[in-house]
Amino acid sequence: EQKVVLITGCSSGIGLRIAVLLARDEQKRYHVIATMRDLRKKDRLVEAAGDTYGKTLTLLSLDVCSDDSVRQCIDSVKDRHIDILINNAGVGLLGPVESISMDDMKKVFETNFFGTVRMIKEVMPDMKKRRAGHIIVMSSVMGLQGVVFNDVYTASKFAIEGFCESMAVQLLKFNVKLSLIEPGPVHTEFETKMMEDVAKMEYPGADADTVRYFKDVYIPSSIDIFEALGQTPDDIAKCTKKVIESSRPRFRNLTNSLYTPIVAMKYADETGGLSVHTFYNLLFNFGSLMHITMSILKCLTCSCLRRRTISPD
Ligand code: NAD
Repeated sequence: EQKVVLITGCSSGIGLRIAVLLARDEQKRYHVIATMRDLRKKDRLVEAAGDTYGKTLTLLSLDVCSDDSVRQCIDSVKDRHIDILINNAGVGLLGPVESISMDDMKKVFETNFFGTVRMIKEVMPDMKKRRAGHIIVMSSVMGLQGVVFNDVYTASKFAIEGFCESMAVQLLKFNVKLSLIEPGPVHTEFETKMMEDVAKMEYPGADADTVRYFKDVYIPSSIDIFEALGQTPDDIAKCTKKVIESSRPRFRNLTNSLYTPIVAMKYADETGGLSVHTFYNLLFNFGSLMHITMSILKCLTCSCLRRRTISPD
């Protein structure tokens, strides 16, 4: 029997690729309900879905920030029956905290944290009743380790990690599975959108040094890191499919083995100093951040610090 999979944020990036990968499953095990805020943006998904569109893939509109939209969407699903909920919709935010308005910060939490909570709140009760279901949450490595100038985005992902860590315990009692996917950098519009925002921003309220550290030190190295270590949205889709298809899915799923030392540092030093100083040295004490990052990542990837990841293949 086909499993009903509902995915949020499918007009681009990771959500689009997960929708297409599942809809194209050779054994047709999934009926994918691909949702997006604005159905006028459906063309890319429809094109990528090919002849699965209208068969194993259908489209619905859903804005994770709206109670009405979420309710209407779920009500329109047959018997409100969703086997697998994939919370993918998310937004990024970069820059010095001084120059970001409180409203813009709240928008990030509205989508990344409350948007996911709203979806879970709507879908979970039916799953609990049926004693079945799987909830997937697209978190990030930044849900486990803070990254400079990503302060608010990181906080929103930490928030959802904490929420899920708490939920997982009672859901286990109801046989509902909950899994976090924690990618490192992924080449999507997410990154492009953020870089565009960065170029447009004027950084009111931030002093010249801070702006310089952000624009001239952080941004170029961040681009280098994306170039060198970035995965594709398809990689993340494959990892997600693996998690869904696992008989005993893990709660946490890092997808990028080159990033695991960053997380491991945190657990290796309970004072927190190792993480803070490593990031400090990476940002401020080296000319070629990229070069050093790579070598540190490589040398830290010793067996004691290596964390198991899921691989796309
Ligand atoms: P993306 O910008 O291509 O996709 C995000 C999608 O969410 C977009 O289609 C956007 O329209 C949608 N969205 C935003 N607000 C929404 C709302 N209110 N309701 C419904 N949909 C909404 O970027 P992506 O990289 O594919 O991001 C997908 C997820 O992966 C996000 O949760 C992001 O935090 C996470 N992630 C991304 C990266 C990365 O480097 N790109 C790394 C780790 C985690």
